[in-house]
Amino acid sequence: MSVRIKPSSPAGQFLMAHGVAESVLNAATLRVLNWQTGDAVTAMLPFGKAAIFVKSKYLQPDANGNLPIDRKLPLLRHELFHVQQGFDWGFVVYWVRQLWARIRYMSITAPNSPVETPAYDAQRAVHAAMDQRGIPR
Ligand SMILES: [Zn+2]
Repeated sequence: MSVRIKPSSPAGQFLMAHGVAESVLNAATLRVLNWQTGDAVTAMLPFGKAAIFVKSKYLQPDANGNLPIDRKLPLLRHELFHVQQGFDWGFVVYWVRQLWARIRYMSITAPNSPVETPAYDAQRAVHAAMDQRGIPR
């Protein structure tokens, strides 16, 4: 199964209100992958596309194919931040920086690396906004 977050959908509007560019939403295809270490991994692809692989619990679209506004969106905000990095840096530099962070920090997730900390900041900001709106954890 693959899902695209349409900019006009409620989740798309929510994510755009929290810093995701429409071009990033249009570039990213979400696919289920359940065997990776973390809950998600973003693969920048050539020609301005991206594949976000997430555990199946993150891809539960409604009957219209839209993702609900719930506590799964902060993780997607994190991954979409990486897609923006891919746009900003270009395909090759994105992969070099991501791989170097894993090597330098000797961690597959490298949460304290310069490539990951702003993505976690964006993820936390969406959680905080959901706290304010009373969206259950
Ligand atoms: Zn990340």
